[in-house]
Amino acid sequence: MRCVVFAWSWLVLAGCAGWSNWAGNERCQPKRIARPATLAELRDVVRTSAHLRVAGAGHSWSKLVCTDEVLVDTRSLTRLLSVDEGARRIRVEAGMRLKDLDQLVAQHGLALATEPTISEITVGGAIATASHGTGLAHGAFSEEVVALDVIDGAGQLVTLDSPDDLRAARVGLGTLGVIYSITFRLVPAFNLEIYERVVDEKQAFEGIEQRVADNQHVDMFWFVTEHKVFLRTYHRTDAPIHVTHPARDPIEEWVVRTWIGQFGLATVGKIPGIKKLLNKVEPSLFPDQTTTDRSDHVFHRFPGHQKVYSMEYLVPIERTHDALQAIKDSLAATKFYPNMPPYLRFVGGAGDGDLSPLRGRSSCAIEVLSYTGFKGWEQFFRDLEPRFLALGGRPHWGKLFFANPRALYDAAAWANVERLRARLDPHHKLANELTRTLFTP
Ligand SMILES: Cc1cc2nc3c(=O)[nH]c(=O)nc-3n(C[C@H](O)[C@H](O)[C@H](O)COP(=O)(O)OP(=O)(O)OC[C@H]3O[C@@H](n4cnc5c(N)ncnc54)[C@H](O)[C@@H]3O)c2cc1C
Repeated sequence: MRCVVFAWSWLVLAGCAGWSNWAGNERCQPKRIARPATLAELRDVVRTSAHLRVAGAGHSWSKLVCTDEVLVDTRSLTRLLSVDEGARRIRVEAGMRLKDLDQLVAQHGLALATEPTISEITVGGAIATASHGTGLAHGAFSEEVVALDVIDGAGQLVTLDSPDDLRAARVGLGTLGVIYSITFRLVPAFNLEIYERVVDEKQAFEGIEQRVADNQHVDMFWFVTEHKVFLRTYHRTDAPIHVTHPARDPIEEWVVRTWIGQFGLATVGKIPGIKKLLNKVEPSLFPDQTTTDRSDHVFHRFPGHQKVYSMEYLVPIERTHDALQAIKDSLAATKFYPNMPPYLRFVGGAGDGDLSPLRGRSSCAIEVLSYTGFKGWEQFFRDLEPRFLALGGRPHWGKLFFANPRALYDAAAWANVERLRARLDPHHKLANELTRTLFTP
């Protein structure tokens, strides 16, 4: 009897639970959620499904994942397939989290040259949306991909390693086959020294181009109402690991920024006076310090556990000042009081995928955020988006955007992507509402 009740509850849960992304703004009720754990199971689910979408860790805010059909959750595909220390290559299944990949490569004295800030995401999801870190010498994380093994619409395993195929498939938005495994190029392990301080915005923004050119990695959190910037510059070093506050860093991340940030602000921050007071205090929560640590620890230093909404545009780097002004103008126009600092990073993109928003130029990746508990963020984001578009901006595929980005990519890029799509998925099994608005019907 207990088994019957258990099985029945499981079925109800499986039928009703549906899928939702990390931020909770995207929810759907797929016909079935498949969780393949082997290559054979993955091929089987693709072969037997009429329509499907793929999910990684669900850390995208955009409408890329949701479907009413079959949803393939790749998080059980986490195996290391091969590692070649001499050639500095690693091949892993696509559902592996970035943080697990970091540990594996470190065990072999190797590292990834660049990484996004977040390490909870899957490697398949990270490349599919051109996720990135900061540094003009680097593009998106997907540029580190040298080969992909994908399951095509018929359930066959296809290896993609030619330049044209990779250029299309690196940033595939979940439409160019289901990625089974990824081969990354690696570099010898290295440490980064990171110098963090709060400075006046004038000091941070004047000569921004020079600062970005002079430092290997730069990022900035802009406390708009306080006219201050939390500025971080970091570079490779042969110096050994030296962490200034080993106990304080995690406490600050979890207690101050996550707990106070998420729960405190969501409950009391709606009162304008308190919000203003908190904004005043916030820059002082970021101490001046210099830390030397393993590269991945520095890349993921601010993982961001708070539940937020995010919109990020990649604008040509020479339009950075105009993008900052656009944020000020939109805040004034919508009277939205910022509850999180906009975040600026600087990336190259000469060799990236056809559909990478970084492609072909150096960009300032400028991101606006709001705690999920606050009202008015959508009006602010919607007001700001056309201003970023007017500057030649392209949206991050995994974050919020409202305009259709199709026209922001040239015909040759679409032609190469459509060519590979016709080969891998001629019957458009891997489409959803959003991708149908992007691709030729
Ligand atoms: C707190 C937080 C911090 C973030 N920090 C950064 C950052 O520093 N830099 C940055 O650029 N972005 C950042 N992002 C955005 C995030 O990196 C992207 O949205 C990324 O795509 C999420 O990966 P995921 O594994 O969650 O994939 P999902 O969001 O589940 O899926 C994203 C896309 O990948 C496709 N996909 C996933 N797996 C496969 C597969 N095996 N085969 C084919 N397609 C697949 C999906 O279909 C979908 O189109 C952040 C997001 C959050 C929530």
